[in-house]
Amino acid sequence: MSGRLVQRPGAPAGLVIRGARVLDPAAGIDHVGDLVIRDGRLGGRPDGLEVIDGTGKVVVPGLVDVHVHLRVPGREEAEDIATGTRAAAAGGFVTVLAMPNTEPVVDSAAILGSLLETGEREAAVRVGFYAAITTGQQGEGLTEHGDLADSGAVGLSDDGRPVTSARVMLRALQYQRAAGLPLVLHEEDPTLSGRGVMHEGAISTRLGLEGIPSVSESVQVARDCALAAYEDARIHICHVSAAETVEELRLAKARGVRVTAEVSPHHLCLTDAAVEPEVDPARFKMNPPLREPSDREALIAALVDGTIDCVATDHAPHAAQLKDAPFEEAPFGVIGLETAFASCFTHLVLPGLVPLEVLVRRMSSDPAVCLGIPVPTLADGAVADLALIDLEAVERVGEHPFHSKSTNCAFTGEELRGRVLLTVANGQVAHRRTA
Ligand SMILES: [Zn+2]
Ligand SMILES: [Zn+2]
Repeated sequence: MSGRLVQRPGAPAGLVIRGARVLDPAAGIDHVGDLVIRDGRLGGRPDGLEVIDGTGKVVVPGLVDVHVHLRVPGREEAEDIATGTRAAAAGGFVTVLAMPNTEPVVDSAAILGSLLETGEREAAVRVGFYAAITTGQQGEGLTEHGDLADSGAVGLSDDGRPVTSARVMLRALQYQRAAGLPLVLHEEDPTLSGRGVMHEGAISTRLGLEGIPSVSESVQVARDCALAAYEDARIHICHVSAAETVEELRLAKARGVRVTAEVSPHHLCLTDAAVEPEVDPARFKMNPPLREPSDREALIAALVDGTIDCVATDHAPHAAQLKDAPFEEAPFGVIGLETAFASCFTHLVLPGLVPLEVLVRRMSSDPAVCLGIPVPTLADGAVADLALIDLEAVERVGEHPFHSKSTNCAFTGEELRGRVLLTVANGQVAHRRTA
């Protein structure tokens, strides 16, 4: 049984995008021409349909984000399903998967069911929901994995915190094979992270801030790869941040462990140098933290060679009054849905670090494959799931208001290139940029 994805009902799109570069690397599609969307599907006759000029623009398969926080239930002042999926649509995303570290935690079929109902009424793009691995995300008793699978969970995760006990993780992996849901793991060893607030290195020392060492992540990833191998179970590693972790993944994949991994735009684009305490450093506080240039280089290389399978934003909205705190007290997390493509395009593709084709794959088809959800494609006859992007348009982040309820973005004030003009999600127009 695969996870349920829901979206509010809407009229099927009917459009012709004229003269755009149509680029779907996973399907081997790359040509300039017209793309017809009729009755929400790709292909068919263009007559009578509205025409959009795509000259000089690119159409890509809709982006997929397997790691967002929509803050429902319990923290609707920071985000809700309507605003979070609206932000997703504005960023070119057609499917997002939401984490269960809410208040209360999504650890029962009842809470999951009510979220799916809300999604059916409110979601601008497809949304799926993870349920917790352990009750209340307390790291002790397992939730009813079979029940949650039957009720439509897309996977299981205690994201926000690790499953500290190796024994509990082993049992979760045994259930994983039975229930079939992927385990999506936030990896850190809390005895190493301690009360750290940023990457442990020269800059944390200079600033006098407590550090989170890279090995806090990599030892836990090594442990879970070993346990997954032992149980022949499937795991997905969240937000890889450190070069040491890349090494562990490389070794695990080489010996056949069924592990996939994601990396966030902020870890790909920024380093701990951003935390220098001049302007609003809480914008750069997230867990795992921004690390050193050598880590960033390792993450980029791993994304290109496939050791890291996909990009995921870890979109983590926080109400402004919380983030406007001194660095040490501010909560961890940054929003990312609306800047994900432009930040990666500007910081990775334009300087020649990542080919555009690779970035598109790692943000659309590859994450969908990792989590076993429908893969967006531009193949003729498919449901229309796409984004039309102007790769020349430059914009200062924050000048155009965020659709998210929150504004805690690491890229605010930066000029980024690449503007999403149109998103068609599951055959419906989910976003159209007018100004
Ligand atoms: Zn996390
Ligand atoms: Zn997260």
